Amino acid sequence: MNQYHRAHRQSINERDEFWAAEAARIHWETPFTDVVDASRPPFSQWFVGGRTNLCFNAVDRWAKKQPEHTALIWHSTEVERENRYSYAELLAEVQAVAAGLVELGVGRGDRVLIYMPMIPEAVFTMLACARIGAVHSVVFGGFAAVSLANRIDDARPDVIVSADAGSRAGKILPYKPLLDDAIARSQHPPRAVVMVDRQLAAFQKVAGRDHDYAALRARHLGAEVPVAWLESSEPSYILYTSGTTGKPKGVQRDTGGYAVALATSMDYVFQCKAGDTFFCTSDIGWVVGHSYIVYGPLLSGMATVLYEGTPVRPDGAILWKLVEQERVNVLFSSPTAIRVLKKQDPALLSRHDVSSLRALYLAGEPLDEPTATWISQGLGKPVIDNYWQTESGWPILSAQPGIEQTPLKFGSPSFPVIGFDVRVFNESTGEELPAGEKGVVAIVPPLPPGALSTLWGDDQRFVDTYFSSIPNQQVYSTFDWGLVDKDGYWFILGRTDDVINVAGHRLGTREIEESISSHSNIAECAVVGIADALKGQVAVAFAVLKNTTVIESEAQRSAHEAEIMRQVDQQLGAVARPARVYFVTALPKTRSGKVLRRVIQAVCEGRAPGDVTTMEDPAALAQIQAAVG
Ligand code: AMP
Repeated sequence: MNQYHRAHRQSINERDEFWAAEAARIHWETPFTDVVDASRPPFSQWFVGGRTNLCFNAVDRWAKKQPEHTALIWHSTEVERENRYSYAELLAEVQAVAAGLVELGVGRGDRVLIYMPMIPEAVFTMLACARIGAVHSVVFGGFAAVSLANRIDDARPDVIVSADAGSRAGKILPYKPLLDDAIARSQHPPRAVVMVDRQLAAFQKVAGRDHDYAALRARHLGAEVPVAWLESSEPSYILYTSGTTGKPKGVQRDTGGYAVALATSMDYVFQCKAGDTFFCTSDIGWVVGHSYIVYGPLLSGMATVLYEGTPVRPDGAILWKLVEQERVNVLFSSPTAIRVLKKQDPALLSRHDVSSLRALYLAGEPLDEPTATWISQGLGKPVIDNYWQTESGWPILSAQPGIEQTPLKFGSPSFPVIGFDVRVFNESTGEELPAGEKGVVAIVPPLPPGALSTLWGDDQRFVDTYFSSIPNQQVYSTFDWGLVDKDGYWFILGRTDDVINVAGHRLGTREIEESISSHSNIAECAVVGIADALKGQVAVAFAVLKNTTVIESEAQRSAHEAEIMRQVDQQLGAVARPARVYFVTALPKTRSGKVLRRVIQAVCEGRAPGDVTTMEDPAALAQIQAAVG
């Protein structure tokens, strides 16, 4: 692991030299004078004095160099359509939208909110904003009116670009009524709305406010729109973090640092180069979608696949079918998606030729060892666990095969990514912890290029939220609980609020989940700590079975529960044994696939579940309510 360690050490100890060299991966209209200004901690500004543009780097550069190469491939199993755009075509589409936005009065620094399904027009609009220096804020197309209104009021967009409807698992979800409702609720309504009409759901236009995307495009196709050369630290976008209550946190990303970080990651983390094909199954409404559907692959001159659909329609082989058809080199998905596939026929994994695929990357949730082994063996490909956050913008922990092929340990996202000075701290004393000890995972500032620069409009909240929770240290808390093993591999054990205290023993719920998941009949599970008069807290588990026929009577249920408790006993010790194991058919999750442990915990403790507007499947929560009575 020498090469990796050398590179990582250099990225921290010889930070300026390291990042100055990496910055050469992108075009600078004006060269920077300083690599980083960290004189006002915890704030940092990367590539001070440099001027660049994300759209120029992602589109124009390649449209000149390789105009006929494929840039964007769209597949929709929802509306049974596909489309592809070369770099030259992408540039034309982006300029047409950019000209349309300029016609609507959008300029540098103005906000444009994008509330759209997974269609090419969403990507064109993001890039068009970047081109003219407008700050986009993509809101996941599925958030309801109240969540959308909160985001409108925080970002105060001049223009909102939307579509008549999205479609999920064959069900049409009209957007316009939600959008109109949200605008009616907001204190700062936009001046204009641009609507893509997919002919999926009829909608009413508001005279004087609503415009037609197709008409704007037709008017401006062929237009040349000059690139706005932004200062490196000017914002490129705002992205609201999911799953929190209260006022949404608008993660603000810069321009130059983000471009450099993504280009660097494409090489070191993903081992990709121009001409390769990248398929990220996330949604453009999430950070993974921003970084690895849109900007990352295009900044590196690759083809990117935009997929509107689920992993199981028309059947559980659809992802592999697309890999075969598009000769995909890297697939990036989530553990949740793979756990969904695990419930399907394993033969589906070998129906298609996936020889083009170099590796599968998974991020967003803890990747349990059984799921990693199952998919890695099924595909015959390495599975690389990536740990990151909306705030970080790119992976914090990952294997970095582009630097060195290090052995993988399932259950671990390997090592800190170059540029991230990650450490483990004791959350009560602030003391830095040695290998083998559990604590809070934190990043020593300055945060690397690509990480959030602040929270939109609220520098103080940025400092208070992220840099004030570990005593005596001004470090960025990830609010994740983790440890480093004796070989230097990192393990994430769950959110700090998911750490439970059973009779004085501190346990990450993830450890218990891992143990339960290793049972051959468990597809997935969630463990939460609930208040207990005697022990402080006890663990309670909710498990989804692969084969439900083992539970047809109360006797079978209790035998199965006892078997799982015994397994945890043997693997972790009696202290970790859940007080109860409930069997359910689904777990409540956010739309981005994260298990809503806090909501489950609230229900178990008889409290109100709190903000559940981001919940994917309300029936799953109802099952939990019914189970715990
Ligand atoms: P978000 O900002 O919504 O993407 O959520 C970030 C959080 O997801 C992290 O703080 C972790 O708790 C969790 N997470 C993301 N990736 C991983 C991973 N590979 N392993 C464990 N937890 C993860």
